[in-house]
Amino acid sequence: MHSIFYYSSELARYDFGPDHPFKPERAQKTLELCYRYGVLDREHMTVKKPPALKREKLLLAHSEEYLDALRRVGKGEIFQEMFKFGIGSEDNPPLRGIYEWSRKCAGATWEGMTKIMDGDADIAFNPLGGYHHAYRSHAEGFCYINDLIIAIKEALTRNVRISYVDIDAHHGNAVQEEFSGENRVQFISMHESGKHIYPYTGFVEEAGEEGAHGYIVNIPLPPKTDDEIYLEVFHRIVVPLIKRFKPDILVAELGADSLVSDPLTDLMLTNNSYTQIVEELKRLCSNILATGGGGYDIYRTARCWTLAWAILNEVEPVDEFAGRVGGMMFGPEMEVSSLHDRPYTVKGAEKDKIRQEVDKTMDVLIKRHGL
Ligand SMILES: [Zn+2]
Repeated sequence: MHSIFYYSSELARYDFGPDHPFKPERAQKTLELCYRYGVLDREHMTVKKPPALKREKLLLAHSEEYLDALRRVGKGEIFQEMFKFGIGSEDNPPLRGIYEWSRKCAGATWEGMTKIMDGDADIAFNPLGGYHHAYRSHAEGFCYINDLIIAIKEALTRNVRISYVDIDAHHGNAVQEEFSGENRVQFISMHESGKHIYPYTGFVEEAGEEGAHGYIVNIPLPPKTDDEIYLEVFHRIVVPLIKRFKPDILVAELGADSLVSDPLTDLMLTNNSYTQIVEELKRLCSNILATGGGGYDIYRTARCWTLAWAILNEVEPVDEFAGRVGGMMFGPEMEVSSLHDRPYTVKGAEKDKIRQEVDKTMDVLIKRHGL
């Protein structure tokens, strides 16, 4: 077994600005926690610096004119045309260095995919990746370069079958659009319903175009969905669909913004369901390319990804400093000196309402797929 953890302190230091919720330093916090818990120093693991992706590879997901505009923005130019490409909004500010930063972040996901395909790695994790909202010719949702599309397209050149599983709280809209006519890619997204939250898409009816109908699987969830309901849907729908598809490689977008503490979303998960899901994904496919994604409570996001890395590598986190360093590494407000969150359950009439809505969604999928 060989696993690669992609990291560069230069990329983790990149700053979207004090008022922007996206904080690349989550990657640094994750790396530190992984070391502290002894899950990143094993012989079969490599920490590798992301390579800058060549233009030719960026073109797998983006248009020439978009890349030209992004490069100009990255050099510090501000011009009217950039708005046409979604650059210059509050979500996607015109950041100096964004082109270089993005192509390195994407380089890690791309290289992780090629290492897995070449048999040089079983597991690759890029906590600086997972930009599922970046479109061919426009930036949105904090995303500029779509590393996921680039990596999957690279895999398709070798005729590899990919299951893409997206557990970020937001719908993986741009990835879905790219592959909705492609039957070598199974796209599965579990997210807070587009009735309530950006990008306002990802309804169960969106199931793929002709020739690939059923290869797009959307599972929208009501606000306040908790671990119990989330896991139920995952086991009832997602697991059998992946088993049936039999992917060669599983791409997992592990956005951690579905956690109960996340300031931007309304799902109520703890990292207990996240870890169970990562465990199951690992059982379903031995080749996994995992990326970060959302996650705006940076300390809990780092805990979540540390656990994900440990599970993907089948190693047990051990805290040798417990009780001595206290909760400092977990953030000022952490209540426990453990990586695992306390359980959180929604109860009563509210839960019944959520269950009814989720049952309706599950019924559609069970019928459509004959599960
Ligand atoms: Zn998200």
